[in-house]
Amino acid sequence: FVKSSVIEGTQFEDDSDQETIDAKDILKRELQDERKTLPIYKFRDDLLKAVDEYQVIVIVGETGSGKTTQIPQYLHEAGYTARGKVACTQPRRVAAMSVAARVSQEMGVKLGHEVGYSIRFEDCTSEKTMIKYMTDGMLLREFLGEPDLAGYSVVMVDEAHERTLSTDILFGLVKDIARFRPDLKLLISSATLDAEKFSDYFDSAPIFKIPGRRYPVEVHYTKAPEADYIDAAIVTILQIHVTQPPGDILVFLTGQEEIETVDEILKHKTRGLGTKIPELNICPIYANLPTELQAKIFETTPEGSRKVVLATNIAETSLTIDGIKYVIDPGFCKIKSYNPRTGMESLLINPISKASANQRAGRSGRTGPGKCFRLYTSYNYMHDLEDNTVPEIQRTNLANVVLTLKSLGIHDLVNFDFMDPPPSEALLKALEQLFALSALNSRGELTKTGRRMAEFPLDPMLSKMIVASEKYKCSDEVMSIASMLSIGNSIFYRPKDKQVHADNARLNFHTGNVGDHIALLNVYNSWRETDFSTQWCYENYIQVRSMKRARDIRDQLEGLMERVEIEVCSNASDLDAIKKAITSGFFHHSARLQKNGSYRTVKNPQTVFIHPSSGLAQLLPRWVIYHELVLTTKEYMRQVTELKPEWLVEIAPHYYQLKDVDDAASKKLPKGQGRAAL
Ligand code: ADP
Ligand code: MG
Repeated sequence: FVKSSVIEGTQFEDDSDQETIDAKDILKRELQDERKTLPIYKFRDDLLKAVDEYQVIVIVGETGSGKTTQIPQYLHEAGYTARGKVACTQPRRVAAMSVAARVSQEMGVKLGHEVGYSIRFEDCTSEKTMIKYMTDGMLLREFLGEPDLAGYSVVMVDEAHERTLSTDILFGLVKDIARFRPDLKLLISSATLDAEKFSDYFDSAPIFKIPGRRYPVEVHYTKAPEADYIDAAIVTILQIHVTQPPGDILVFLTGQEEIETVDEILKHKTRGLGTKIPELNICPIYANLPTELQAKIFETTPEGSRKVVLATNIAETSLTIDGIKYVIDPGFCKIKSYNPRTGMESLLINPISKASANQRAGRSGRTGPGKCFRLYTSYNYMHDLEDNTVPEIQRTNLANVVLTLKSLGIHDLVNFDFMDPPPSEALLKALEQLFALSALNSRGELTKTGRRMAEFPLDPMLSKMIVASEKYKCSDEVMSIASMLSIGNSIFYRPKDKQVHADNARLNFHTGNVGDHIALLNVYNSWRETDFSTQWCYENYIQVRSMKRARDIRDQLEGLMERVEIEVCSNASDLDAIKKAITSGFFHHSARLQKNGSYRTVKNPQTVFIHPSSGLAQLLPRWVIYHELVLTTKEYMRQVTELKPEWLVEIAPHYYQLKDVDDAASKKLPKGQGRAAL
């Protein structure tokens, strides 16, 4: 074995293990051959010539043609990385991680060395890193530290067709810096054909098309609408498995919960199929899936068995899985929707667009003719689906983005060069919200609080809560709560056969009806007291993986505390102080109990309920503050804590007046009164 000069000091450090080194060398050579079979390979030289000639190029190519994995490598081979890093942005964390892993393999280097990735709360890069895959949100944050992106020679905004909020903002920023950095190359790459729009936006940038291979796909519709698409998906999977020739199946579901449900039911149903039916390997893939399991979806299916990939939208264009012959498309995805009038944001399961449906179908025809089973009627497709998904910027809360832009010194938001401008009502609402959080002053300028908030890679409400913890001398506790809230919904483990035990274990953390935020703190602190014991997690029905992630996030928040000069101090005995810090961030999310056991949000009244999983679900305190709203069968508040109404006036006097929180007088408030002035 000869050490290659290019990859010195990387994966091959362990000289003692001759056998695996050879295996790796063979793998690398195989991967190099594989690279040459990708559709993009034929255009390598033309593409490099175009990059040399033009500063901005729009690249269009079918999913799987090799844009994401190959273009950064081509640029590296052509010497661009000698002048600065190549950045490649992805809308999704999993895609950034998985693609970086793949490219490091192809280059035969260790992940995190020459090829790395950076996602929120996880930086897997080093001094050596030349090709950096990152979420679009992370690149946006890098502007804060390096407004001209001096460390980069090329920025590739990948998956541009997804039009995420961060991607849209990046467009405006990179377009701007390209003007005074003629050496910076910009590649805008997209999987769909609406490239003209990107080209127009980037001052008629040339469009580089990579013709894809695409085999015919037979599309099947259901005869009648399906009452339960989960059920229909399972039946379809089993039918394909039993009646159709070999080939893997890809099923599009809306989120982790659905995927887990289908996984469980499928395992149960296939157990009884007998030995005549080939094995069915079930591979889930979603954002929170642990890294070690993510790689499983790419493993080739053993002869005589079949793989079924249960995926979220991530498999629509971000990840390409080879060997898929059958696609099952229930026609739904989870999307964020925002009502700028009320300021309410929720995740809703919505029908997909025609463009999405066609992308999904296309996943089955990459390596041979495929079949797509749409679990809706052709009438639905023709008449009910929109042509395209509305860009996120037009359906989301903009507070975070406005705070970032303000920190970048961009004050004139109305005239910012948006590809599609957000509704002015949403911009105004964001300004109003940041003003109420004291991040902006009445002239719309960033305050000291706002500057500190912008340091945290969190939503403004969470970062305000952290900044406010200084005043209440409880930053230790508040950081733990913020980290636990950032994990989302996967802290408590509730297996179907041990629900009673799990629920009892959980109640322990709620002793004294402290509310869900303090309960999360209790979980974290108890775990910390056991010196982060895994055994303790098992015993208490806590997901150890989620806890480790919370600890990582917490470590990073603690590092940032130093940057904003907030002393870390603990005030564990004063629960009111902790709750006041929470209220300082989340006072917009207050609600008051109604006679029938429902709640009304205080401003912009709306009927909501305490989520059944809350420790306060039976108790129904008169006043509460909540972390988020989720719409399932009802509009639920998740993570709820009791509140004293006078705190609202004390903490957010711009936003609440006494009459808002006065139980007797507040019933007949005329509409619009008490609205924050700007
Ligand atoms: P595009 O960006 O044009 O959609 P990609 O560069 O993502 O295409 O994919 C090119 C090829 O690389 C595909 O055949 C895909 O299966 C493969 N690939 C990408 N990521 C991985 C991975 N993590 N593991 C194995 N193969 C991968
Ligand atoms: Mg790609």
